[in-house]
Amino acid sequence: MCMRCLELSRRSLLVGGGVAAAALTTGTAQARVRPQDMQPLIGPGFKPTDRDEQGLWQLMERAEEEIAGSNLLMNDPALTGYLKNLIGRVGGPAAQDMRIYLAHIPEFNAVMFPSGFTVIFSGLLLRARNEAQLAGVIAHESGHFLRRHMIRSWRDQKRKSDLLAIGSMVAGVGGAGAGVYLGDYVQLAELGAILSLFSYSRGMEAEADAMGTRLIAEAGYPAAEMASVWQQLIGEESASARYRGKRRRRGSLFDSHPSPDSRMADLRASAAEVTIPGRPYDNGRARYLNAIGPIRPMMLDDQVKLNDPGASQYLIQTLAQDGWNGLLRFYEGEIWRLRNRRDDDDRAAQSYAAAVVYPDAPADAFRWHGISLLKQGRSGEAKQAFSRYLVMKPDAPDAPWVRQMMG
Ligand SMILES: [Zn+2]
Repeated sequence: MCMRCLELSRRSLLVGGGVAAAALTTGTAQARVRPQDMQPLIGPGFKPTDRDEQGLWQLMERAEEEIAGSNLLMNDPALTGYLKNLIGRVGGPAAQDMRIYLAHIPEFNAVMFPSGFTVIFSGLLLRARNEAQLAGVIAHESGHFLRRHMIRSWRDQKRKSDLLAIGSMVAGVGGAGAGVYLGDYVQLAELGAILSLFSYSRGMEAEADAMGTRLIAEAGYPAAEMASVWQQLIGEESASARYRGKRRRRGSLFDSHPSPDSRMADLRASAAEVTIPGRPYDNGRARYLNAIGPIRPMMLDDQVKLNDPGASQYLIQTLAQDGWNGLLRFYEGEIWRLRNRRDDDDRAAQSYAAAVVYPDAPADAFRWHGISLLKQGRSGEAKQAFSRYLVMKPDAPDAPWVRQMMG
C-alpha cells in the first residue's frame, strides 16, 4: 500500500491479476504538496458515519483480529511498547486511537489499514538507521489515515470491486487452510490483496509525504530523514536489480509512487520548509539501536537467507556507514558463504576474520572463522576460534562436532 504492498500482493499465489491491475494509477507531474496545507481531516475518537465506511470498518475489525492473533506477530513487550510510544508521538490528532503491530516479515514495508491500525514489517526495523527514519515511515502511514485516503480511494474504485469482494477475501484470510491459523506468508499476502483495493494515487502519496514530514518535525526529528529512508529504498531496489541483471521489478513501489527523483526533491524541499532554524532536532539513534538491538541478529539472519545478495550487501554497507561491528561483518560473511560462488569462500573467510576482532562478534562468527582457518591449514588458530565458540555457546547442538574438529 505504502511501500511495497503492491509487490506483496503481486507475489501472492492466491491473487488474480485483476486486483493488482485495479491498483495501477497514472500520474502526471504536479506541484509539490506543501506540509502547511496538510490539515488532518479527522480528530481524536473518529468513527465513520456513512454506511459504506461503517461496513469497511467492520471488515477491518475482523482483519485486525486475525492479524492480532497471527503467529507472524512479534510480541516482545519492550519493542511493541516502544513502537506504540512512537506512533503516539507522530500519529497526529488520532494518535491515541491508532494501533501498531510488528510482523516478522523481512521486507521493507509498513501498511496502514482503513480503520486506523498499522502493521510494521521487521524488515523496516532492520533498515531504518535511526528513530527519525522509522518515525518518518510511521508518520507517512498516519498521514494516509489522517487524510482519509482509504475511504477516498475506496470510493474512487467502487466500480471495479465491491464490499463483497473484500468480505470474501477477509473470510479467506480467516478460513484458508483448515487448521492453519493466519500465520503464514500466503495468508498475509492475501491481506496485501485486500489492501491493494485501497491503493493510493500518487497525489495521495504526496500528501502523506508532506503530512509525515510535518508530523516528525513537530515531534522534534530532523525532517530530512524522510528523504534518507526513501533514498535507501531506491538504492536497495536498484542494487538488487543490478545484481540479478534485471530491470527494476514491475509492479513494485515505483509504479504507485511519484517518480523517485521528483519524490526525493519534494521531500527535501518540504523538510527545509518545516525546519525551524535554531530548534534542536534529534534523530534518536542511540534510543533506536537500544530498542531494536535484541532482534537485530535475527533480522540480519532473515535478510541473508532471502538469497538476494545484491540487496543484502547494499543493506549491510549502508548500515556500516554508522560504523562496522562484529555483527555486520559476520553477516557480510554469511552473504558470501550462502551465495557459494567461485572465491566466495575466501570472501567469507575475510569477513569472519574481521568480525571476530569486535567485542560484539556473535558466537557463530568464531565457529565459521575456525572452519575457514582449518581449510587454510591453520589448525592452531582454528582451535582457538573453536574454543572461543564453545565458551560462548557451550550448549550448541553442534558442540560435540566442534570438539571433534578440534582434535
Ligand atoms: Zn504511502
